[in-house]
Amino acid sequence: MLGLIQDRPLLISSLIEYSGLNHGDVEIVSRSVEGPIHRTNYRNVNLRAKKLAQALGKLGVELGDRIGTIAWNGYRHMEIYFGVSGMGAVCHTINPRLFPEQIAYIVNHAEDKYIFVDLTFVPLIEALKDHLKNVKGFIVMTDEAHMPESALDNLLCYETLVEAEDGDYAWPQFDEMTACSLCYTSGTTGNPKGVLYANRSTVLHSFCVCANDGLGVSNRDSILAVVPMFHANAWGLPYAAAMCGAKMVMPGAAMDGPSLYELMEAEGVTLSAGVPTIWMMLLGHVKENNLKFSTMKRTVIGGSAAPRSMIETFVDGHGVEVIHAWGMTETSPLGTTGNLLKKHENLSEKERTDIRVKQGRTVFGVELKITGDDGEELPRDGVAFGDLKVRGPWITSGYFKGEGGQVLDDDGWFTTGDVGTIDPDGYMQITDRSKDVIKSGGEWISSIDVENEALGCPGIVEAAVIAIPHPKWDERPLVIAVKEKDHAVTREDVLHHLENSLAKWQLPDDVVFVDELPHTATGKLLKTKLREDFKDYKLPTA
Ligand code: AMP
Repeated sequence: MLGLIQDRPLLISSLIEYSGLNHGDVEIVSRSVEGPIHRTNYRNVNLRAKKLAQALGKLGVELGDRIGTIAWNGYRHMEIYFGVSGMGAVCHTINPRLFPEQIAYIVNHAEDKYIFVDLTFVPLIEALKDHLKNVKGFIVMTDEAHMPESALDNLLCYETLVEAEDGDYAWPQFDEMTACSLCYTSGTTGNPKGVLYANRSTVLHSFCVCANDGLGVSNRDSILAVVPMFHANAWGLPYAAAMCGAKMVMPGAAMDGPSLYELMEAEGVTLSAGVPTIWMMLLGHVKENNLKFSTMKRTVIGGSAAPRSMIETFVDGHGVEVIHAWGMTETSPLGTTGNLLKKHENLSEKERTDIRVKQGRTVFGVELKITGDDGEELPRDGVAFGDLKVRGPWITSGYFKGEGGQVLDDDGWFTTGDVGTIDPDGYMQITDRSKDVIKSGGEWISSIDVENEALGCPGIVEAAVIAIPHPKWDERPLVIAVKEKDHAVTREDVLHHLENSLAKWQLPDDVVFVDELPHTATGKLLKTKLREDFKDYKLPTA
């Protein structure tokens, strides 16, 4: 027997329609690419997203068409998120930090019909124009006054398109499983693969972001979304913010410490979200200038492991609670969040941070398990570690156009490629990417653990640990580190520091210093490059 309840589809358009109506005055503040701070609100974003949908309809955009964006976080990008998905087309966010050949591959693979570009990225598009034959036009996200001189003959002006419409438009209703957005994984090897989100999965994911034990986003928040909108939909924040009418603050192209700090203070930011590299820069600026966060209460750190020293600086130094989160493009991206439980209230701050360094627990919606080499589930004892698998209503079921083949097992589990533990309270801790684990004498050494400990050594600003072949042990760890400017820290200092926290067999065999470490387009350490750079390196112990 079926229930007698209305079957209304969960659509992205309903999020912006809701906040346009019920949180119309709540602001969306952006550092614009043209320069000045721009202020709008949910009422206007809803109206202009409708105008955009009207304009795209006139350009021939239909249900299911892919529409690219190459843009920073800003209000026009937010209008595109809602306008494109709201009309039933697919908003394909493109990471401008990818290699140009990868961008061309992605645009062609997605068959983008139009691409929205920020002024910053017009030269990028010009350089690629001969490879992007199927794109009908590029819509520059600016007004007539700022339209660039360009050799491209199919440039359109965003403001001209939007302002030509009246906004008298009812969001169309369609099946909630209709695709709404597309994001390609950064892919350190092989071609990037597309994750195709659905209206339904995005709305369900937004409930999770708003849930108190998720990221707890609410109307009381002013959110600084540092995580780019081209990286897993800015962790779903634009949708979740619309779901509850939270103020959004978007940094545009200015991701440096001083610009972010200024925006946080000026806009009363209470919650921020970004990868550790960004927070490292921000905390460096705050420390150098002896500053404090006057309004920020929580910060979400994810994308890579949040180092303990960073968590301590936020929590102990600034009274900012850290929500350590784990996820992937394939998981929409929220998989786990590291909120503390009631039973942790009376623990010491050190014990609480022992929990905060873990990647966190699942909120209702995502199921999580770890399995051993035989595929059997391992115990949730916080010690056994194995392949991390997930399933749930916002986890991918396969890549766009079937790339990579079947990605789920018979029971619907997706193998993440991460290795981790799960403790009896359900806190998951990533110990490594499966390909980065160091296999030494039959034991596994977590490169992330060693990196985290190395980062706690005074004078070290960034560290990567990779496996180097060893005649006796198979593989041994090598630390490749970046020093703080003018700091005299030595190899011996780092090794000595690590002796305090690592078992003898986990201690790296050597430490080398470099000026900078390579990163992927999403800010993660690019270990494939390091392995290539150090392929002829001989350990002193070999
Ligand atoms: P992406 O799809 O580019 O977001 O990358 C997803 C991958 O980033 C995951 O599979 C993890 O390897 C890594 N990752 C994300 N969040 C964390 C975290 N909090 N700690 C450690 N690794 C993380």
